[in-house]
Amino acid sequence: MRKEWQSAKRIVVKIGSSRLTEPASGTLKTDWLASLAEDIAALKNAGKEVVIVSSGAIALGRHVLKLPSGPLKLEDSQAAAAVGQIGLAHGYQEVFNACGLSVAQILLTLGDTEERRRYLNARNTIATILKHGAVPVVNENDSVATTEIRYGDNDRLAARVASMMSADCLVLLSDVDGLYTVPPGADASGRRLGLVTEITAEIEAMAGDAGTELSRGGMVTKIEAAKAAIAAGTHMVIASGKVMHPLKQLEDGAPCTWFMATANPVTSRKRWIAGSLEPKGAIIIDNGAVDALKDGKSLLSAGIVRLEGEFSRGDAVVIRTLEGEEVGRGLAAYGLLDAQKIAGHKSREIEEILGYRGRTEFIHRDDMTLKRK
Ligand code: GLU
Repeated sequence: MRKEWQSAKRIVVKIGSSRLTEPASGTLKTDWLASLAEDIAALKNAGKEVVIVSSGAIALGRHVLKLPSGPLKLEDSQAAAAVGQIGLAHGYQEVFNACGLSVAQILLTLGDTEERRRYLNARNTIATILKHGAVPVVNENDSVATTEIRYGDNDRLAARVASMMSADCLVLLSDVDGLYTVPPGADASGRRLGLVTEITAEIEAMAGDAGTELSRGGMVTKIEAAKAAIAAGTHMVIASGKVMHPLKQLEDGAPCTWFMATANPVTSRKRWIAGSLEPKGAIIIDNGAVDALKDGKSLLSAGIVRLEGEFSRGDAVVIRTLEGEEVGRGLAAYGLLDAQKIAGHKSREIEEILGYRGRTEFIHRDDMTLKRK
């Protein structure tokens, strides 16, 4: 077993439509899903957290609505997704409950992860579901997504969810058991790669062209997903979803292709906060708060003395001492107007002051990077 799999604490599993639905009848493959649920129960017993990104809504719904095979018009795929998503969620609920697992449905549109504030919101919700021990089942909200504003495929969505959740591993359960040295559909001389440490032009060429019928939504999008995942510090593995117990097989050394992350999730996230964001404002904090941050604590509103600039919830801000020295940077959990009201106040007073219950931490330590001396 690879040590990346053994040590992974948070795992995102992407399941494609063809793994979940019978092509002829359009029904859910419940036996297969039950074997997946058993694998997930075992992972959870071992102290791991699992997030599912599941396709299948359109595949289920198009059968119910008796839509013709082949590509669907946008409005038909939206209608099919609306019908199919209910069945999909119900199927997960029934099968996972039988294994003693609770499931939670999350439907995302592109803006939910690309807009910083909504991104933080989605991340908090999924993290809270995990904290309570349920298994989030994520899909694109296909019924309202339009051509211009959609993830388009669940490989991309899964990579986004994995990076958003700082997952250790992303598993793509696919029709193929990995990346081969020749594009899908080409001759049979190709050999499966066990390990990819860098996505070079040569690796991309193995996926084939984006434009061909064979590779669309196939290996090309998986390599795109791998790029996004490994840059964010998440290892990715492509494995066959055609077998029963598709996750357990990874322990048993089944054929697959691993893509190695270049950085671990925390450092890559913190590097991103530290370097690539334009700070929108400054939070001036008292000496007690400076000491608390250096001890690895979060920044609470009580330690805030003054605010500068104009920032919204989720924006990057600089944290400064009373003398104006930069302590670090982070993402503010409150926008300027609310921040002004709660600055200097205890966290437990926030609800009364603002009239809603926001985050306890003004800047959570996971959303903060301290300046090294
Ligand atoms: N979100 C789509 C569905 O649930 C699937 C997209 C994909 O598989 O890439 O039907």
